[in-house]
Amino acid sequence: MTDGTRSDEPLADTPEHSGKDAVVVGGGLAGITTALALADAGVRVTLLEGRPRLGGLAFSFQRDGLTVDNGQHVYLRCCTAYRWFLDRIEGAALAPLQDRLDVPVLDVDRPEGRRLGRLRRDALPVPLHLGRGLATYPHLSLAERARVGRAALALKGLDLADPTLDTQDFGSWLTAHGQSARAIEALWDLVGVATLNAVAGDASLGLAAMVFKTGLLSEPGAADIGWARVPLGELHDRLARKALDSAGVRTEVRTRVTSISTDENGRWSVQVPGETLAADAVVLAVPHREAHDLLPPGALDAPGRLLEIGTAPILNVHVVYDRTVLTRPFFAALGTPVQWVFDRTEASGLSGGQYLALSQSAAHDEIDEPVAVLRERYLPELERLLPRARGAEVRDFFVTRERTATFAPTPGVGRLRPGARTKAPGLYLAGAWTATGWPATMESAVRSGVSAADAALGALGRTRPRHLFAFEEAA
Ligand SMILES: Cc1cc2nc3c(=O)[nH]c(=O)nc-3n(C[C@H](O)[C@H](O)[C@H](O)COP(=O)(O)OP(=O)(O)OC[C@H]3O[C@@H](n4cnc5c(N)ncnc54)[C@H](O)[C@@H]3O)c2cc1C
Repeated sequence: MTDGTRSDEPLADTPEHSGKDAVVVGGGLAGITTALALADAGVRVTLLEGRPRLGGLAFSFQRDGLTVDNGQHVYLRCCTAYRWFLDRIEGAALAPLQDRLDVPVLDVDRPEGRRLGRLRRDALPVPLHLGRGLATYPHLSLAERARVGRAALALKGLDLADPTLDTQDFGSWLTAHGQSARAIEALWDLVGVATLNAVAGDASLGLAAMVFKTGLLSEPGAADIGWARVPLGELHDRLARKALDSAGVRTEVRTRVTSISTDENGRWSVQVPGETLAADAVVLAVPHREAHDLLPPGALDAPGRLLEIGTAPILNVHVVYDRTVLTRPFFAALGTPVQWVFDRTEASGLSGGQYLALSQSAAHDEIDEPVAVLRERYLPELERLLPRARGAEVRDFFVTRERTATFAPTPGVGRLRPGARTKAPGLYLAGAWTATGWPATMESAVRSGVSAADAALGALGRTRPRHLFAFEEAA
């Protein structure tokens, strides 16, 4: 079928094997998770991915001897499902968490010049764990800091199960709770734009409340940040493939599914060029627009709603300098178009100089700008932020554009996101865009994969393996 590495060892001899077949369409984090979960429960699984690699929206590629990620990815300690996934593929040590939340925030738009602040937590119980960090955060006035504290407590009191939260926008809620434009820029959007991929005014209060409540107001360590110290492809492609292989999943890349259908006995057929696969269960773990095109008639009450889910872009700006210009692993910036900057030198395999990746979320205005324009905009900004960049030679400058990086977390999006089950028996949905309660993140993708597997296992008469859902207990 493909020239991808095959892993279709016979599974029939496995004693606990169910004799049931499942096809998972889409090899992003949602599809990989689903495939692992089903295989671990004794289902014979084929995973089909259209591209030449696994990992979906979180991948790496080669450029002039460097291994480059399409976009910087981070996760938080509260992302218990993604952490479970990292453990499952034996990759946790390659994407460690900070011991304690500590985000350097550099403001270059101050009368006195540059000013460094930190968003930090300490070991006190919630919400006191953020108290000292907030009290010493220099980018807000004393009065603004006090009002941030009051808004955080009001946010903590919101009931995430209240469906009306999703009809309101976060920006209006913040303003109604005494937050100045500066507080929104220097605190709420600093975190929110990176996690929601939208500014507060464009974001659903429900999703924003979910992020801030879970990340900042649940456990003291919930917002500690983790990120891959290796290329994303090492985790989401190589190690994921290894885990799938040992779980007995047959993985086919460069294999695009063109249609799915069911016969009168309820058995599914999955069509790929040159072959039809038969299955008892099919999980569509593809982006929402692709899912819409593949869904058979009647599978969802209102399939058109999927097309109402918008998308939002993320731009990454990559700069290779001839010397070290940044001495921290990462920082966030204020008073400049630059948002978050990560040092990717070691991960990329660069031997001399330094490679920085700028992660620019909600990049609607810039996603189609020519490289030359972005170069003219961002190199001087980096010089403002990092004095050492002023005398440095830029060896390479390039950008990666993900126009549909996430679904747009706009007010009202919650009612458009379907759950894992469809009306067609044996057909399930997964993907960060499904109804996980999370914004479009790796966490949401993994959670959706677990939910889809769980639903499919129920229908296939298989018990869910306990270890699979261990993260729910850790949550
Ligand atoms: C630049 C960028 C930065 C991001 N930053 C973060 C971050 O910091 N933290 C975070 O948690 N999340 C981040 N995200 C979001 C995160 O990457 C996604 O939410 C997650 O990877 C989505 O996984 P998924 O499996 O749901 O979907 P996808 O990754 O979209 O996977 C779907 C797969 O289906 C395949 N496919 C589609 N149609 C077919 C077909 N017909 N047949 C076969 N295969 C098909 C696609 O090729 C794709 O591989 C970022 C995303 C981007 C793009």
